Amino acid sequence: MNIRNVLGLPEVLDVKKVIAIQPHPDDNEVNIAGTLMELHNRGCEIVYVTVTDGRAGGWGTVQDPNQIVRVREQEKINAGKMIGVDKHIDLGFPDGGNYDIETLTKRLVEIYRQEKPDLVFTVDPWMPYEAHPDHVKVGRAASSALLFSNNPILYPIETHDVFQVPQIAFYATSYPNTWIDITANFERKMESIVAHKSQFDNETWSFVRLYFAEAASEAYLRISTETKGFAETLKVLAHMELHSVPTTLFS
Ligand SMILES: [Zn+2]
Repeated sequence: MNIRNVLGLPEVLDVKKVIAIQPHPDDNEVNIAGTLMELHNRGCEIVYVTVTDGRAGGWGTVQDPNQIVRVREQEKINAGKMIGVDKHIDLGFPDGGNYDIETLTKRLVEIYRQEKPDLVFTVDPWMPYEAHPDHVKVGRAASSALLFSNNPILYPIETHDVFQVPQIAFYATSYPNTWIDITANFERKMESIVAHKSQFDNETWSFVRLYFAEAASEAYLRISTETKGFAETLKVLAHMELHSVPTTLFS
Protein backbone atom coordinates (compact mmCIF):
# COMPACT_ATOMS: atom_id res chain seq x y z
CA MET A 1 0.00 0.00 0.00
CA ASN A 2 1.32 3.41 -0.97
CA ILE A 3 0.14 5.84 1.70
CA ARG A 4 0.96 8.86 -0.46
CA ASN A 5 -1.39 7.57 -3.17
CA VAL A 6 -4.13 6.84 -0.65
CA LEU A 7 -3.84 10.39 0.66
CA GLY A 8 -3.90 11.77 -2.90
CA LEU A 9 -0.62 13.64 -2.47
CA PRO A 10 0.89 15.18 -5.63
CA GLU A 11 4.09 13.97 -7.26
CA VAL A 12 7.25 15.87 -6.35
CA LEU A 13 7.38 17.84 -9.61
CA ASP A 14 3.72 18.92 -9.27
CA VAL A 15 3.97 20.78 -5.94
CA LYS A 16 3.70 24.58 -5.82
CA LYS A 17 5.96 25.53 -2.92
CA VAL A 18 8.95 23.79 -1.34
CA ILE A 19 11.42 24.41 1.44
CA ALA A 20 14.86 22.90 0.87
CA ILE A 21 16.67 22.57 4.20
CA GLN A 22 20.42 22.11 3.95
CA PRO A 23 22.95 21.59 6.76
CA HIS A 24 25.67 23.45 4.85
CA PRO A 25 25.58 26.07 2.08
CA ASP A 26 26.18 23.57 -0.77
CA ASP A 27 24.13 20.47 0.12
CA ASN A 28 21.04 21.44 -1.88
CA GLU A 29 23.00 21.96 -5.10
CA VAL A 30 25.01 18.74 -4.74
CA ASN A 31 21.94 16.60 -4.19
CA ILE A 32 18.86 18.18 -5.79
CA ALA A 33 19.87 21.10 -8.03
CA GLY A 34 18.40 19.36 -11.08
CA THR A 35 15.08 18.70 -9.36
CA LEU A 36 14.88 22.25 -8.03
CA MET A 37 15.65 23.72 -11.48
CA GLU A 38 12.79 21.69 -12.95
CA LEU A 39 10.45 22.80 -10.16
CA HIS A 40 11.41 26.43 -10.80
CA ASN A 41 10.68 25.98 -14.52
CA ARG A 42 7.23 24.74 -13.55
CA GLY A 43 6.53 27.82 -11.46
CA CYS A 44 7.16 26.32 -8.03
CA GLU A 45 8.23 28.70 -5.26
CA ILE A 46 11.54 27.67 -3.66
CA VAL A 47 12.67 28.65 -0.16
CA TYR A 48 16.16 27.71 1.05
CA VAL A 49 16.84 27.16 4.73
CA THR A 50 20.58 26.94 5.44
CA VAL A 51 21.08 25.68 8.98
CA THR A 52 24.78 26.20 9.66
CA ASP A 53 27.12 29.00 8.69
CA GLY A 54 29.64 26.74 6.93
CA ARG A 55 32.55 28.03 9.00
CA ALA A 56 34.22 24.62 9.15
CA GLY A 57 34.52 24.44 5.35
CA GLY A 58 38.06 25.73 5.33
CA TRP A 59 40.25 25.58 2.29
CA GLY A 60 43.82 26.33 1.25
CA THR A 61 45.48 29.03 3.31
CA VAL A 62 42.26 30.69 4.44
CA GLN A 63 42.02 30.05 8.15
CA ASP A 64 39.70 32.80 9.37
CA PRO A 65 36.30 31.17 10.00
CA ASN A 66 34.50 34.51 9.76
CA GLN A 67 35.95 35.07 6.30
CA ILE A 68 34.91 31.55 5.29
CA VAL A 69 31.34 32.30 6.44
CA ARG A 70 31.19 35.48 4.34
CA VAL A 71 32.59 33.79 1.23
CA ARG A 72 30.24 30.82 1.52
CA GLU A 73 27.21 33.01 2.06
CA GLN A 74 27.90 34.80 -1.23
CA GLU A 75 28.54 31.50 -3.01
CA LYS A 76 25.19 30.21 -1.73
CA ILE A 77 23.43 33.29 -3.11
CA ASN A 78 25.19 32.89 -6.48
CA ALA A 79 24.24 29.22 -6.71
CA GLY A 80 20.68 30.04 -5.64
CA LYS A 81 20.33 32.45 -8.56
CA MET A 82 21.21 29.62 -10.94
CA ILE A 83 18.50 27.47 -9.35
CA GLY A 84 15.82 30.15 -9.14
CA VAL A 85 15.62 30.32 -5.35
CA ASP A 86 12.96 32.80 -4.26
CA LYS A 87 13.98 33.28 -0.63
CA HIS A 88 16.89 32.47 1.68
CA ILE A 89 16.51 31.85 5.41
CA ASP A 90 19.86 31.50 7.19
CA LEU A 91 19.72 30.07 10.70
CA GLY A 92 23.40 30.64 11.50
CA PHE A 93 24.03 27.62 13.71
CA PRO A 94 27.78 26.93 14.05
CA ASP A 95 29.04 24.47 11.44
CA GLY A 96 29.85 21.25 13.31
CA GLY A 97 29.00 23.03 16.55
CA ASN A 98 27.29 22.16 19.78
CA TYR A 99 23.63 22.94 19.07
CA ASP A 100 20.81 20.58 19.94
CA ILE A 101 18.11 19.00 17.80
CA GLU A 102 15.22 20.33 19.89
CA THR A 103 16.29 23.95 19.48
CA LEU A 104 16.53 23.46 15.72
CA THR A 105 13.20 21.57 15.60
CA LYS A 106 11.38 24.46 17.27
CA ARG A 107 12.88 26.92 14.80
CA LEU A 108 11.84 24.75 11.84
CA VAL A 109 8.28 24.38 13.21
CA GLU A 110 8.04 28.17 13.14
CA ILE A 111 9.34 28.28 9.57
CA TYR A 112 6.91 25.57 8.38
CA ARG A 113 4.00 27.48 9.92
CA GLN A 114 5.19 30.73 8.40
CA GLU A 115 5.99 29.48 4.89
CA LYS A 116 3.35 26.72 4.52
CA PRO A 117 5.20 24.55 1.97
CA ASP A 118 3.68 21.62 0.08
CA LEU A 119 6.87 19.62 0.55
CA VAL A 120 10.16 19.81 2.45
CA PHE A 121 13.46 18.56 1.04
CA THR A 122 16.31 17.69 3.38
CA VAL A 123 19.11 15.20 4.03
CA ASP A 124 18.23 11.64 5.06
CA PRO A 125 19.43 11.33 8.68
CA TRP A 126 18.89 7.56 8.57
CA MET A 127 21.43 6.97 5.82
CA PRO A 128 23.37 4.19 7.58
CA TYR A 129 26.90 5.49 7.11
CA GLU A 130 26.23 9.19 7.59
CA ALA A 131 28.87 10.32 10.09
CA HIS A 132 28.49 14.09 9.86
CA PRO A 133 26.64 15.34 12.96
CA ASP A 134 25.15 18.34 11.13
CA HIS A 135 23.53 16.06 8.55
CA VAL A 136 22.10 13.75 11.21
CA LYS A 137 20.82 16.60 13.38
CA VAL A 138 19.33 18.61 10.52
CA GLY A 139 17.55 15.60 8.98
CA ARG A 140 16.17 14.55 12.37
CA ALA A 141 15.03 18.06 13.29
CA ALA A 142 13.39 18.65 9.89
CA SER A 143 11.51 15.34 10.29
CA SER A 144 10.37 15.97 13.87
CA ALA A 145 9.26 19.47 12.92
CA LEU A 146 7.21 17.98 10.08
CA LEU A 147 5.59 15.54 12.48
CA PHE A 148 4.70 18.20 15.05
CA SER A 149 4.17 21.46 13.15
CA ASN A 150 0.40 20.98 13.50
CA ASN A 151 0.62 20.29 17.25
CA PRO A 152 -0.25 23.34 19.39
CA ILE A 153 0.43 21.49 22.66
CA LEU A 154 4.04 20.52 22.02
CA TYR A 155 4.72 23.71 20.10
CA PRO A 156 2.32 26.40 21.34
CA ILE A 157 1.10 28.87 18.77
CA GLU A 158 3.08 32.06 18.96
CA THR A 159 3.05 34.07 15.79
CA HIS A 160 1.59 31.66 13.24
CA ASP A 161 -1.23 29.11 13.11
CA VAL A 162 -0.41 25.43 13.15
CA PHE A 163 0.25 23.88 9.75
CA GLN A 164 0.68 20.33 8.48
CA VAL A 165 3.35 19.89 5.79
CA PRO A 166 1.99 16.98 3.71
CA GLN A 167 5.24 15.46 2.43
CA ILE A 168 8.97 15.21 2.97
CA ALA A 169 11.61 14.22 0.39
CA PHE A 170 14.95 13.05 1.71
CA TYR A 171 18.06 13.39 -0.41
CA ALA A 172 21.42 11.66 0.07
CA THR A 173 19.33 8.60 0.89
CA SER A 174 20.18 4.89 0.83
CA TYR A 175 16.50 4.00 0.42
CA PRO A 176 15.24 5.93 -2.62
CA ASN A 177 11.69 5.46 -3.88
CA THR A 178 11.64 8.30 -6.42
CA TRP A 179 13.89 8.99 -9.40
CA ILE A 180 13.79 12.43 -11.06
CA ASP A 181 15.03 12.83 -14.64
CA ILE A 182 17.50 15.75 -14.56
CA THR A 183 19.16 15.09 -17.93
CA ALA A 184 18.16 18.50 -19.31
CA ASN A 185 19.53 20.26 -16.22
CA PHE A 186 22.66 18.21 -15.54
CA GLU A 187 25.25 20.63 -16.94
CA ARG A 188 23.63 23.59 -15.19
CA LYS A 189 23.57 21.55 -12.00
CA MET A 190 27.33 21.06 -12.28
CA GLU A 191 27.73 24.83 -12.77
CA SER A 192 25.66 25.52 -9.67
CA ILE A 193 27.89 23.19 -7.65
CA VAL A 194 31.05 24.89 -8.88
CA ALA A 195 29.48 28.21 -7.90
CA HIS A 196 30.64 27.08 -4.47
CA LYS A 197 34.16 27.90 -5.56
CA SER A 198 35.68 27.59 -2.10
CA GLN A 199 34.55 23.96 -1.92
CA PHE A 200 34.75 22.64 -5.48
CA ASP A 201 36.83 24.89 -7.76
CA ASN A 202 40.07 23.03 -7.13
CA GLU A 203 42.24 20.18 -8.40
CA THR A 204 39.84 17.47 -7.21
CA TRP A 205 36.84 18.83 -9.14
CA SER A 206 37.40 16.68 -12.24
CA PHE A 207 37.28 13.56 -10.08
CA VAL A 208 34.32 14.76 -8.04
CA ARG A 209 32.44 15.73 -11.21
CA LEU A 210 33.07 12.27 -12.64
CA TYR A 211 31.63 10.72 -9.49
CA PHE A 212 28.50 12.92 -9.67
CA ALA A 213 28.03 12.01 -13.34
CA GLU A 214 28.48 8.27 -12.72
CA ALA A 215 26.08 8.26 -9.77
CA ALA A 216 23.47 10.23 -11.71
CA SER A 217 23.69 8.06 -14.83
CA GLU A 218 23.46 4.92 -12.70
CA ALA A 219 20.36 6.31 -11.00
CA TYR A 220 18.87 7.05 -14.42
CA LEU A 221 18.82 3.31 -15.18
CA ARG A 222 15.76 3.12 -12.90
CA ILE A 223 13.97 5.46 -15.32
CA SER A 224 15.17 3.90 -18.58
CA THR A 225 17.62 1.29 -19.75
CA GLU A 226 16.94 2.22 -23.39
CA THR A 227 18.36 5.74 -23.27
CA LYS A 228 21.18 7.45 -21.40
CA GLY A 229 20.58 10.26 -18.98
CA PHE A 230 20.97 11.57 -15.45
CA ALA A 231 18.70 11.28 -12.42
CA GLU A 232 18.51 12.39 -8.81
CA THR A 233 17.17 10.06 -6.14
CA LEU A 234 14.77 10.82 -3.28
CA LYS A 235 12.95 9.05 -0.48
CA VAL A 236 9.53 10.71 -0.52
CA LEU A 237 7.22 10.10 2.44
CA ALA A 238 3.87 11.33 3.67
CA HIS A 239 3.97 13.05 7.07
CA MET A 240 2.17 10.11 8.71
CA GLU A 241 4.93 7.71 7.63
CA LEU A 242 7.31 9.45 10.03
CA HIS A 243 5.86 7.86 13.15
CA SER A 244 5.21 4.25 14.08
CA VAL A 245 4.94 2.87 10.54
CA PRO A 246 7.53 0.06 10.27
CA THR A 247 6.93 -0.35 6.54
CA THR A 248 8.22 3.18 5.92
CA LEU A 249 11.62 1.62 5.27
CA PHE A 250 10.17 -0.13 2.23
CA SER A 251 7.64 2.44 1.03
ZN1 LIG B 1 26.70 19.16 4.27
